[in-house]
Amino acid sequence: MGMGKYDFIDQALQGLKEQGLYNTIRTIESSVGAWVVVDGKRVLNMCSNNYLGFANDQRLCTAAKDAIDRYGVGPAAVRSIAGTMSLHLELEKRVAHFKRTEAALSVQSGLNTNLATIPLLMGAEDVIFTDELNHASIIDGCRLTKAKRVIFPHRDVEGLRALLEENKAVAKKLVVTDGVFSMDGDLAPLPGIVKAAEDHGAMVMVDDAHGEGVMGSHGRGIVDHFGLHGRVDIEAGTMSKAFGVVGGYVAGSAKIVEYLRQQARPFLFSSAATPPDVAACIAAIDILEETDEPVRRLWENASFFKAEMRRLGFDTGKSETPITPVMLGEAKTAWAFSKRLFEEGVFATAIAFPTVPRGKARIRVMLSAAHSQKDLAFALEQFAKVGRELGVIGA
Ligand SMILES: *Cc1c(COP(=O)(O)O)cnc(C)c1O
Repeated sequence: MGMGKYDFIDQALQGLKEQGLYNTIRTIESSVGAWVVVDGKRVLNMCSNNYLGFANDQRLCTAAKDAIDRYGVGPAAVRSIAGTMSLHLELEKRVAHFKRTEAALSVQSGLNTNLATIPLLMGAEDVIFTDELNHASIIDGCRLTKAKRVIFPHRDVEGLRALLEENKAVAKKLVVTDGVFSMDGDLAPLPGIVKAAEDHGAMVMVDDAHGEGVMGSHGRGIVDHFGLHGRVDIEAGTMSKAFGVVGGYVAGSAKIVEYLRQQARPFLFSSAATPPDVAACIAAIDILEETDEPVRRLWENASFFKAEMRRLGFDTGKSETPITPVMLGEAKTAWAFSKRLFEEGVFATAIAFPTVPRGKARIRVMLSAAHSQKDLAFALEQFAKVGRELGVIGA
């Protein structure tokens, strides 16, 4: 038998299956709300990043439809050639106002914010200090540079300080961190990071993907939560989670944003966000500027659910946010748990290596303002039932 040129793929896929890491991706057949139709079954949705219930909010849908009527479905160009529509500029103005920064740039996704920013700011002579648990898109942004990468221990300000000190001869330094860490729901110690960076003349960038719409007043994000306006150089964020749409933005000083507008590669080489997406994002900001009601509802739901899960005996990790990891250990247990929940009418996917470390597989429950008290009671009932059945909690 000769070697086939794709044998390496067969082996890799087989390996995933043997380790219980093969991911069977489910299909959503409805809009994304508290309840969804998944693979033909109506189930309670406990795993979307739909924090505020905006993914199928009628106000956002109407804004998207109106934008299609006026602007069509696509920009048919990159921003710098012929893709900048008045909608994009309006969104940028609105994001800057919402985030209380001088300026903002709209890009196509949260992932692209990191690919746009980090490689532009950092060159071969420079050093990037990056938290060991930073999101993959930050890691990829760093990989696209020739800068030296210094990984600091998770949330360790003193560790970061020591590393900054070791590299004090380097002129240009950037400290980059997730604001809310997406798998555990813990927060970056941003005040300490900012102070350490200021003491060493380093820039600070925070990826606020899970803080947006969740943390701070009216969901303005983690910089607002800690009252650090004007002291964080770059806030990168996504419109794909709490905002319920898709897209990304970089907010910061007018100077940095202008530089990105001139040179950032995803801005120059990938087409602009579409009119319905951009219009829906603006509608989301309209709502949040006007009221913090969905943000408060989200937090009420999260506090209630987490407390009840702990009371049942589940290990919900060390989350400080509505992200609720239900720690299950081995990937196989997490997949089995998720499968049984689905049979019982609850959609909550398992997350395993490589998204989280080996042996730390979990079901990451995502609470939403869209959940009713009745929904949460139903979810708790099913978690308790499956937890007892699989011996995760006591009878
Ligand atoms: C989800 C996420 C992203 C990616 O955002 P998209 O808009 O989905 O591309 C980037 N950074 C962090 C920290 C995230 O959690």
